[in-house]
Amino acid sequence: MHKLARLDHAHVWHPFTQMRDWLRSEPIVITSGLGAVLRDVRGREYLDANSSIWTNLHGHNHPKLNAALRKQLGKIAHSSALGFANEPAGLLAAKLVSMAGCRLTVDGRRADDDARPNRKSEIGNRELQKVFFSDDGSTAMEVALKLAYEFTRRARGPKTQPRFISLAGAYHGDTVGAVSLGHIDLFHKAHAGLLFKTDAVMSPYCYRCPFNRAKPERADARETRKCNWECVGKVEAKCAAARKRGNDYAAFVFEPLMQGAAGMIPQPAGWLKRVTDIARGHGALLVADEVMTGFGRTGGGESGKVRKRESERDATARLPTFPPAHFLTGSASQGVQPDFLALAKGLTGGYLPMAATLTTQAVFDAFLGEYAEFKTFFHGHSFTGNQLGAAAGLASLELLTSKASVTARTQLEENLRRELKSLWSLPNVGDVRQVGMVAGVELVHDWRTREPFALDERAGIRVCEAMVRRGVLTRPIGSVVVLMPPYCTTAAQVRRMVGALYDSVEEVLGARATTSGAR
Ligand SMILES: *Cc1c(COP(=O)(O)O)cnc(C)c1O
Repeated sequence: MHKLARLDHAHVWHPFTQMRDWLRSEPIVITSGLGAVLRDVRGREYLDANSSIWTNLHGHNHPKLNAALRKQLGKIAHSSALGFANEPAGLLAAKLVSMAGCRLTVDGRRADDDARPNRKSEIGNRELQKVFFSDDGSTAMEVALKLAYEFTRRARGPKTQPRFISLAGAYHGDTVGAVSLGHIDLFHKAHAGLLFKTDAVMSPYCYRCPFNRAKPERADARETRKCNWECVGKVEAKCAAARKRGNDYAAFVFEPLMQGAAGMIPQPAGWLKRVTDIARGHGALLVADEVMTGFGRTGGGESGKVRKRESERDATARLPTFPPAHFLTGSASQGVQPDFLALAKGLTGGYLPMAATLTTQAVFDAFLGEYAEFKTFFHGHSFTGNQLGAAAGLASLELLTSKASVTARTQLEENLRRELKSLWSLPNVGDVRQVGMVAGVELVHDWRTREPFALDERAGIRVCEAMVRRGVLTRPIGSVVVLMPPYCTTAAQVRRMVGALYDSVEEVLGARATTSGAR
């Protein structure tokens, strides 16, 4: 075993890892990266098929990001935001505010608001204006949670204890507050007694939806969906019940377009606008967790078309129908204006831990007062507003809004869509779900019955282990294999990623493809 692997085995405790399994084999020790490729201590190369757990945007070792960091290093790495302002944090805050609702056309220009005539009047003073920096997705959500709670209690009175509502299966991070907002049974059992209660509502998981009357087909279940929006009705019922109890929800918490760690569960077009309108109508603030979906990840091309089809079919959807373009946030793509926007993972292009919680002037103002009123937001971290992170964030946003990046993302989204089609021929592939540059492939015993694998069959883990042997790194969520390549990933690299998944499913789960010569 390599000496670095031995040190790891001796002392490092890995996140979300059964360490007994970990200690059974020599770990891959990463030493360098370039673009979508990671290289280990033995000189072996791998494709980074999940962007290093969903963080990396532009590829590893990017010259522009490296240069921005070097330049900042020449000045200072960190000084505290407790008491002092700094240059890159201020610049980044301003950039984030201007980017929050923005969409980019394929020529890399910022599309103006002409395409959305009602936008200004719809938003009013709810525009995102203020940025609270922290370190990780969990802390970004913790900040949103505390601010929303305190803001609501200030409006409704200190005796009230408003609750939160979020989606079934949701994951919003690992701090105690963020875990409480989530609904993953396994984690709730592990920390039973430590968490506070939040309400869960049905998430629009079309593939396994009991209300979806469409027959199983070899197509994304969202597009063949036949239902009466029962999932939307459930949100309405929950909100109405809370109102009846005299305790409207403080906030509705959601990931726009695609629930990530819940198992890559995409939302049908129009769902988000409907449920957020309902929640807001019942007095709830909107908390958009865009830790995974932010910074262009949800793309635009195909989902733009889906949006258009949907609103043509259903005039009541009131969806914005602008042409396909790239959005920097999922909520903007759905015409939803949240009161809180949590950003992390991709904020620094995946270089450094940094997070931001954006909110409105209205929320900010509720914390203003005489010193002795103690309306201060009592929250902060040692590295809040860190200069290196902010410098990386600025450079990343500059790349993200460049014509070259928008074109590359359009291409990547198409490449992914084209390659993923091959997976439908595998009997163990139940559903292939893609939103922009994120894909989840749900493995089942047989696509006809949709019978799921039990967790302890470790289907996803075994398939991903077989992918490692083919030089492709990713991590499953239960039986869902995630593909989320960095934006610089080439057509040939996408083909290798999907090809490795295809071959690994065949190898591990055994069944032969139903249509020969699909690949
Ligand atoms: C990863 C993730 C988080 C938690 O972020 P960390 O940086 O791991 O704390 C929260 N919400 C979503 C949607 C995520 O994907």
